[in-house]
Amino acid sequence: MEAKENTHFIHEIVEEDIRNGKHDGAVHTRFPPEPNGHLHIGHAKAICLDFGTALKYNGKCNLRFDDTNPSKEETAYVDGIKEDVHWLGFDWEDREYYASDYFDQLYEYAERLIASGKAFVCDLSGEEIREYRGTLTEPGKPSPWRERSVEENLDLFRRMKAGEFPEETRTLRAKLDMSSPNVHNRDPVIYRIMYARHHRTGDKWCIYPMYDFTHCISDSIEKITHSFCTLEFEVHRYLYDWFLDELEVFHPQQIEFARLNLTYTVMSKRKLLQMVEEKIVDGWNDPRMPTVSGLRRRGYTAESIRDFCDRIGLAKRESIVDLALLEHCLRTDLNKRALRYMAVLDPVQVIIDNYPEDKVEYFTAVNNPENPDDGTREVPFSKELYIERNDFREDAPKKFYRLAPGREVRLRYAYFVKCESIVKSATGEIMEIHCTYDPASSGGNSPDGRKVKATLHWVSAAHAFNAEVRHFDNLLTVSNPAESELDFMDLINTESREILTNCKLEPALKDLPVESRIQFERIGYYCVDRIDSKPGKPIFNRTVGLRDEWSRIQKRK
Ligand code: ATP
Ligand code: MG
Repeated sequence: MEAKENTHFIHEIVEEDIRNGKHDGAVHTRFPPEPNGHLHIGHAKAICLDFGTALKYNGKCNLRFDDTNPSKEETAYVDGIKEDVHWLGFDWEDREYYASDYFDQLYEYAERLIASGKAFVCDLSGEEIREYRGTLTEPGKPSPWRERSVEENLDLFRRMKAGEFPEETRTLRAKLDMSSPNVHNRDPVIYRIMYARHHRTGDKWCIYPMYDFTHCISDSIEKITHSFCTLEFEVHRYLYDWFLDELEVFHPQQIEFARLNLTYTVMSKRKLLQMVEEKIVDGWNDPRMPTVSGLRRRGYTAESIRDFCDRIGLAKRESIVDLALLEHCLRTDLNKRALRYMAVLDPVQVIIDNYPEDKVEYFTAVNNPENPDDGTREVPFSKELYIERNDFREDAPKKFYRLAPGREVRLRYAYFVKCESIVKSATGEIMEIHCTYDPASSGGNSPDGRKVKATLHWVSAAHAFNAEVRHFDNLLTVSNPAESELDFMDLINTESREILTNCKLEPALKDLPVESRIQFERIGYYCVDRIDSKPGKPIFNRTVGLRDEWSRIQKRK
């Protein structure tokens, strides 16, 4: 992949370091997911930064699973994360690492801290630790166990490791400053007892290192030069630096940036998991989810997601990005690559009264006006057709240019047709629209310079096939759920999916491979669902409509 040319404050820092020969000019980054859920579009931003920076400066980027919490982690997430990073177009080569691979090293470093009097075993319960910690406005109190001797601490820590004590009875804590204005520095816990099976180390350990301790040391072990993370870790940076300085090991530089927030979207894995568990969606890869696998299934391209991450840039301040921008990037990409087809989603029958009964003609249709290399295809035409129900109005107002009694329109690629009469059911529903065609307008060309105001898409009834088409709307009813007083679960849009089962599609759509991304002419972009489609029975997901809200927003500015 080509490295992108955009620049921002992080790249300025990196360039400065290269100029100054820091780490001999090397750039080594990492993407560090916790395997406790699948990746979302926010992670895509981090991935583009971590891998993108390495690409741009000829460096390397590791994939490291920060797997320090055995109770919430699963191998399925590890596999999903790897698939998603690859799909986004990035590669960690042979550098797939796990924080759990460093458990022995971490343990040794913990003993080193104890030996230098910088860590102690504390017998306070979790609740007591919280009480002693104080608040943002009040200093904490030292633990009564803070002054244990090095020998006693070492002995107790080894016995914690040997499984001599029940959970919650003891922790190992760093010895910093209980009156620090930063609560994270008030003797943070660095090891806890947990009798949980780990997805990689099995039952080997019953003590597990905490995230803050693990993260900076993992970065150090991997000789990461620039450790990018989101702003919430800014308050952990002092601790990160403290551990590395106390241990006198390789010292990466942590640099924080603002996380991505998107309108109409919740992003935290915890919330996404809740929507999965409470069956608001069909799973992590539901096309409505902001997960990488959900976006992929919806029809997003990796290129459009990377383009989006590029355009939003990087900042030091939290903000919320308009979903319309993401959709704009998607449309821009799909407009170039999506082949056009005709599909009638809400069909009504059209009968061409003056067209021969058994005749079939084939008209040549352009697959993609944006790319002549995509060629053409032959579309069958016959006496009985379908058009969209909303392309016809019985009592058409003046501004309605589509089909109506006495009015003439073009059927795309085929003929001019004029509505002569309609047939209704007993309940008043329009059952048949009877038209005549002008044989001189073959190919949809005007025979005599005569103009029509509309061109409709259509399918031949005898040749079309029935298919299921799924439409989606935002999962949330408000643009900024973080501003709402309500819990996000009370903001769920209960009508975020509509399943259309009576769609009539042109035959060329029948055997498209899964994940094909196409445009239904005049309607929108769709893709062949990669999970539920069967050979010869494709299911189509609506990816995005044709109208570009973002361009309109930009024009208004
Ligand atoms: P969440 O809060 O959504 O559950 P997380 O931060 O706990 O996510 P991790 O697996 O720890 O998820 O994240 C891996 C990397 O992705 C981290 O470096 C994190 O800072 C980054 N990241 C997570 N969410 C976002 C986001 N919304 N925007 C940008 N980067 C993000
Ligand atoms: Mg996290």
